[in-house]
Amino acid sequence: MKSYFNYHRDQLFAEDVALADIAVRFGTPCYVYSRAALTDAYHQFADALKTREHLICFAVKSNPNLAILNLFARLGSGFDIVSGGELQRVLAAGGAANKVVFSGVGKTEVEIQYALEAGILCFNVESASELDRLSQIASRMGEVASVSLRVNPDVDAKTHPYISTGLKQNKFGVAYTEALALYRKAAALPHLHVTGMDCHIGSQLTETSPFIAAAEKVLALVERLALEGIKLEHLDLGGGLGIRYDDETPPSITEYAQALLKVLHGRNEKLIVEPGRVLVGNAGVLLTKVEYLKPGEEKHFAIVDAAMNDLMRPALYDAYHEILEVDRRQVANPLSNFLDETTSHSTKLQNSAAKSLVTPEGERTNVKGNSFIYEVVGPICETGDFLGHGREMAIDQGSLLAVMSAGAYGMSMSSNYNSRPRAAEVMVDGSDVNLIRERETVQQLFAGEKMVV
Ligand SMILES: *Cc1c(COP(=O)(O)O)cnc(C)c1O
Repeated sequence: MKSYFNYHRDQLFAEDVALADIAVRFGTPCYVYSRAALTDAYHQFADALKTREHLICFAVKSNPNLAILNLFARLGSGFDIVSGGELQRVLAAGGAANKVVFSGVGKTEVEIQYALEAGILCFNVESASELDRLSQIASRMGEVASVSLRVNPDVDAKTHPYISTGLKQNKFGVAYTEALALYRKAAALPHLHVTGMDCHIGSQLTETSPFIAAAEKVLALVERLALEGIKLEHLDLGGGLGIRYDDETPPSITEYAQALLKVLHGRNEKLIVEPGRVLVGNAGVLLTKVEYLKPGEEKHFAIVDAAMNDLMRPALYDAYHEILEVDRRQVANPLSNFLDETTSHSTKLQNSAAKSLVTPEGERTNVKGNSFIYEVVGPICETGDFLGHGREMAIDQGSLLAVMSAGAYGMSMSSNYNSRPRAAEVMVDGSDVNLIRERETVQQLFAGEKMVV
């Protein structure tokens, strides 16, 4: 997939804007998104599915910023939500309630009532108890709730265990063996209208085969239901398509979509998909500044102003994010103040090694002689607070770094740990830069707190 973050004369740009200029205007840490990248990813999906009736429901949890939701809403997107809060965001961003599907194992009474009042497209029900609760609430409100059961197909998504959701031992969905009975029950309840079936087996999948295996199991069940006179209007095959962070080779959006269309060939249910990461992941970077360089006996540390509270994925899943120097021009030997030339530090690279850093397509004009291998860490008081291990870079105090592929589950998972206000977010559009979330202030962090008299 085309990148919207490229070097021009050794300066890293987001579309037509130098990231260094964004740092000056908005400070760091700062999330930077490319509007063109977001739009391009959505269009790839929509184009790939255009031969059949479909609805793309962007998974809000991957990046819930109002500007991003609004952009997708204007492109025609629906939304996959997992809380009442996400529904409120979708509506505030101009999203259509009748394009919203509501997933999640723990929907509360208040959330269900709110979603029914709003008139969402469908509840993706994940248990027998939830089905009962939904039926009771709908009946009390004099409404009819549209229902799809999230079926757990017991398929191995071959991804990180924390983001695998379609195995028997996972908390998600209705067991495959119990789904038929629950569908019969739902079909008989007057305040429920059975409209679909769905599955979502995990995130960051890098092969199509698990998607196909899950779809085939779902389809077998759909056919069983049809025999009993329960006809479905839609099939929701979830999200989960992976992106390239490092050297993964996930199928392209087009390849993935073609594989889905192939299994669905000859059927006429409307297809719903719930992509999150693949629409936003590579459309965003986290811009951060090197506060200190700290050489050590075993490792050199680059201490940056972004931390695990800003980007949790490395600490949570040991996830890899590429880290690029925003300015690739030569730097003076940054560690010369610390290192004794005669003891020539073991982690210092030789010039010849540094030369090999030039990428085949790279525009790098200056070969740097001062690359070192760094642990890129944040200021938080946890050893797990790192953004990258063992990265070769020629940097100095004050250098800017771009943590790549940070558009999904980055800002979304951020916290205020260590009383750190959350980062600003900006969206680049050609040569325009729009602030889409102001940097949080410390006052905002404790505004709701009260001392005891
Ligand atoms: C998280 C989630 C998604 C999106 O997953 P991605 O890997 O970001 O595409 C889709 N559907 C459900 C139910 C989810 O929980």
